[in-house]
Amino acid sequence: MKKILLTAINAKYIHSNLAIHSLKASAGECGACVELSEYTINQQKDEILRDLFLRGADVLCFSCYLWNLEYIEAIATEYHKLCPEVPIWLGGPEVSYETRAFLESHAYVKGVMIGEGEDTFRELCAYYQEDGEKESSLLKIGGLAIRMEEGEIRFTQPRPPKPLSEVPFCYDDLQEYEHRIIYYESSRGCPFSCSYCLSSVDKRLRFRDLELVKKELQFFLDRKVPQVKFVDRTFNCDRHHAMTIWRFLTEKDNGTTNFHFEISADLLREEELDLISRMRPGLIQLEIGVQTTNPETLREIRRTMDLEKLKENVLRIRSFGNVHQHLDLIAGLPLEDYESFRRSFDEIYALWPDQLQLGFLKVLKGSYVYERAKEYGIVYHETPPYEVLCTKWLSYEELLKIKAVEEMLEVYYNSGQYAVTMKLVNALADNAFDFFLELGQFYERKGYGGMQHSRLRRCEILLEFLKEKGAPGELFEEALTFDLYARENCKTRPSWAPDTSEYKELTRRYCEKGKLEHLEPFHYVFPRKREGGVKTLPERLEEPACVLFHYGNADPLDHQAKTEWICTSSAGNA
Ligand code: SF4
Repeated sequence: MKKILLTAINAKYIHSNLAIHSLKASAGECGACVELSEYTINQQKDEILRDLFLRGADVLCFSCYLWNLEYIEAIATEYHKLCPEVPIWLGGPEVSYETRAFLESHAYVKGVMIGEGEDTFRELCAYYQEDGEKESSLLKIGGLAIRMEEGEIRFTQPRPPKPLSEVPFCYDDLQEYEHRIIYYESSRGCPFSCSYCLSSVDKRLRFRDLELVKKELQFFLDRKVPQVKFVDRTFNCDRHHAMTIWRFLTEKDNGTTNFHFEISADLLREEELDLISRMRPGLIQLEIGVQTTNPETLREIRRTMDLEKLKENVLRIRSFGNVHQHLDLIAGLPLEDYESFRRSFDEIYALWPDQLQLGFLKVLKGSYVYERAKEYGIVYHETPPYEVLCTKWLSYEELLKIKAVEEMLEVYYNSGQYAVTMKLVNALADNAFDFFLELGQFYERKGYGGMQHSRLRRCEILLEFLKEKGAPGELFEEALTFDLYARENCKTRPSWAPDTSEYKELTRRYCEKGKLEHLEPFHYVFPRKREGGVKTLPERLEEPACVLFHYGNADPLDHQAKTEWICTSSAGNA
């Protein structure tokens, strides 16, 4: 029996590669022995090479994506030197476009499985199992680019799209997923045409049969897996499909599993919003692409989006307080200059999503933007992920400023670790983008950049920055103390926090659960959860009020302690 090794190199340990699992399941009874090997880009290349070599294979296949292509190239080059007789096959979006050029420049690769791999892989396995000697038989398998023995590169017939319901479910054993995210596909393709995105190239949108989907989701629910991420490109592009699944998950909720969806928020109507408002906190989380708020850029990138509706729906969902929302922006798009991006940032930041991700345009082979890169003056990295360096509208210097904003945004906003402080900062800063930029420049000026800092140190740096800007010291010291204790019962008390020995008796009375509770006095009432940034800073209280932090039962959305104000007339849940 021939051994065919399907290899994935993931970005993080908690990720898994749906594609190779799906290919293995699709290979079914092909006769060959299909094995999987998954690694991460954090492993040494030599370690992966050694493991692949020791596992031995008759055929070696790699699943190629933007984040792992360089790794695969390096590892496969060395593997081929060690095992020249083992054919190496690649697949995945990174090699499915400009395949001829890729094969011409990668002589060690036997061939590429182009596009959808399930049927192609099954037939390839059968070929190696049955008649691997007769190379001409390979030409009968659709969806391949092959380097023939005499060196010629041949392409076989493209494959028609496979009905999604025919793709086998690939999770029969969940043991290996214990601490990893499970990926699931209920639709394939996207009806939209965003010019930077490969999903817009293939218009063959297909849905998995809803009864099948329900059965498979029930499998995850029964096993109480922590998270299932739908890889559907725009989950709610078909309302009936999305609503059926969301209704099912709401009814069958097991109280544990979280389901992640990428959606177009502007497509949500009252019925969906009403259902979402009734979901358990943490049942679903939403990733919402915005990319830009510049109408000319939106038109140029052919993105269909009702921005006002999107904003309205994001705010509505935020008001429910039960769904984590992650919004995305992309820097470096056509017609978007620095000022325009700054405006896009501020407009979206003002929605106070749980996370705001700043991405940088990646010029993907096969996309429309790739074809027009010259015309747009888009200069980008030669190597994956082909990230933008500058455009006709955005200089490299300006892009570096956006990078500085991104870094500070990740640390101080997206981490969720300084939530109260960031809401107060809003009252000081006319413009959120400029605030993060100044903070980034402060890091540079003080020599704090480019190194790891503890959470406490990050607080100290932020305080130093805010005080330099003339912000009220005591208020921000207390806000940061609040943020620190909201996250954990700190072993090291912040240096600026006052002596609380006079609260010993009160602490004894309220903190019955020992380390699972902490009591802290504050002279300010801070913004509540789910509130956005404040416009004016809170007044100092005459007498401090105490907050009790409960660590036993963290909030499923932000993982922060539950808080309760005590001994104050403004008592209530924060
Ligand atoms: S960016 Fe999103 S909406 Fe646009 S084509 Fe790609 S997957 Fe579809």
